[in-house]
Amino acid sequence: MDCIFCQIADGKVPSEIFYQDKEIIAFPDIHPLAPIHVIIIPKKHVPSIAHINEKDLSLIGRMVNVANQIAENKGISDRGYRLVINCGKEGGQMVPHLHLHLLGGKQLANGLT
Ligand code: 5GP
Ligand code: ZN
Repeated sequence: MDCIFCQIADGKVPSEIFYQDKEIIAFPDIHPLAPIHVIIIPKKHVPSIAHINEKDLSLIGRMVNVANQIAENKGISDRGYRLVINCGKEGGQMVPHLHLHLLGGKQLANGLT
């Protein structure tokens, strides 16, 4: 499939890997917007958070847990960080494979737009 995040999950496109298990993989964003900018994805291709159904809810919980653990490993748990999921065109989603952004390591701006 012609999906860049599937290719990273499959190891077809090499990347540094911060975490992986059977269902989830985490890697650095190619254009970081903060000193720490990690992408956490399900290994299976889910187009967006809008495509999550009831049986996937634990997957989202596990993705958040992975993000929290990476924040802890990188020493920013106490300083704070931001978790973001963009959804669809007006939500600013550019890569059509569900992903959670972990941003931190600097003072992030207030506001969301
Ligand atoms: P979105 O706007 O879809 O929420 O965010 C997509 C993110 O994926 C962007 O921050 C962008 O920099 C990142 N990205 C796009 N292409 C690649 C890639 O090939 N490798 C990695 N590691 N990140 C990518
Ligand atoms: Zn994909």
